Amino acid sequence: EAKRQRDGKPRLFQQAQEDELEERLSLERELRHAIDHNELCLYLQPQVDADRQVIGAEALVRWQHPERGMISPGHFIPIAEETGLILPLGHWVLQEGCRLLGEWRHVPGLQGLQLSLNVSVRQFQQPDFADQVLSVIQQHDVPSERLTLELTESLLLSDPEGTIKKMQQLQHEGVSFALDDFGTGYSSLAYLKVLPLDTLKIDIAFVRDLALGMQATPIAATIIALAQSLGLRVVAEGVETDDQRLVLAQLGCHIYQGFLFGRPCTAAALSSAILEDGPAGHANLAQ
Ligand code: C2E
Ligand code: MG
Ligand code: MG
Ligand code: MG
Repeated sequence: EAKRQRDGKPRLFQQAQEDELEERLSLERELRHAIDHNELCLYLQPQVDADRQVIGAEALVRWQHPERGMISPGHFIPIAEETGLILPLGHWVLQEGCRLLGEWRHVPGLQGLQLSLNVSVRQFQQPDFADQVLSVIQQHDVPSERLTLELTESLLLSDPEGTIKKMQQLQHEGVSFALDDFGTGYSSLAYLKVLPLDTLKIDIAFVRDLALGMQATPIAATIIALAQSLGLRVVAEGVETDDQRLVLAQLGCHIYQGFLFGRPCTAAALSSAILEDGPAGHANLAQ
């Protein structure tokens, strides 16, 4: 029979909890260091139109850890959110994304690309968020029409009025907004009418089980129809097969993102694939 501590938990269980806490604490410490020492890196995943032309990219942060190797955001964004490190991290993403857009501005073949950046709720809720964005845009001489910010529905849970105000302020300056992972949150559909949105992103969960011949999942079809009726663009996330692409095209989706068209890669890899291919060609980014 397992010996129990005074709190009634078996010793082994308590040990596992302590290990986990220690692991989180050291990740937090290392992440703090990483943000200040250039260990973060933005990967870009192409977004393509019906002709497989790259029209833009989503920036996805990666952590190039000196010992642990490449760490994906699913592992450290939650820790960053809990500890508040998401604020400096998010600001780094904004800086780096705008720096890229500033570079592309001078490169024919890249200057028309749209760049999407993910923004956390906590980051967006900073009172001076809009001012931060505008000052970074100015600093890097970015054409603001090229910048899209991806928000999630959870933003609307706590402060819908403040959210709308901030979005309007940025939209007024040319910045666009996409609602990410659409359909997985809890927001009221009524907000869709009042948010200054440009794009809905269909979550990968609703793309995964689309297949030719099968009845398209009613959710993907509904999201696309909803977007069309509201005059919004739709981006399908996580498109991995040609069947999925065809079903989405039949439903009226025009922009695709997923392994079928390209995995997230370095900015250098993305731009050379696009440039080598020539302005009218189809960059071959899928591996
Ligand atoms: P997200 O914004 O919904 O990004 C899409 C995720 O789907 C990315 O995972 C991407 O690599 C993955 N993906 C794209 N195409 C496919 C596909 O065909 N198949 C499959 N199975 N997956 C695909 P990633 O890069 O691991 O990012 C995960 C999440 O981390 C993102 O989800 C986003 O919520 C968050 N994230 C990433 N970068 C940032 C950032 O800079 N700031 C913030 N706040 N969050 C970020
Ligand atoms: Mg996203
Ligand atoms: Mg998403
Ligand atoms: Mg997602």
